[in-house]
Amino acid sequence: MNQSASKCPFCNINERVLKSNTHAQAFLSNPRKVPGHFLVTPKRHIEKPWELTNAELQDIFELIFFIEQKLVSKLGQGADIRQNYRPFLKAGRLKQDHVHFHVYPRYNQDFLYQVSEQFEADLFTDLDEGEQAEFAKLLM
Ligand SMILES: [Zn+2]
Repeated sequence: MNQSASKCPFCNINERVLKSNTHAQAFLSNPRKVPGHFLVTPKRHIEKPWELTNAELQDIFELIFFIEQKLVSKLGQGADIRQNYRPFLKAGRLKQDHVHFHVYPRYNQDFLYQVSEQFEADLFTDLDEGEQAEFAKLLM
């Protein structure tokens, strides 16, 4: 049921990484909920967030807070950080076992959660190359 590192998309995502450091990497979620929906993961394949080492946590949060500042200063009015641990769901397009943190811009009255809880599958949209280039520039 669990994915192995060899089949894990987050372990094989090098060309989509927009920012990284020693233990962590950041890239755009595909599919994504909103433009600027980033994922930050440890480089090591682990499935339980409590197995992260202190060095991994430090590098992950360094990237999360870097992205959050970019989103708030250049895109949104605020930002959310979210980590889901849902071993009861099967891995697939909308769920990966590799630990990851979501970072995305928020706007006053965007009703994101009201919409996403009701229509989660419909809300996700495929990334295109223009969006990838736009957000690569944001992180510079
Ligand atoms: Zn992985």
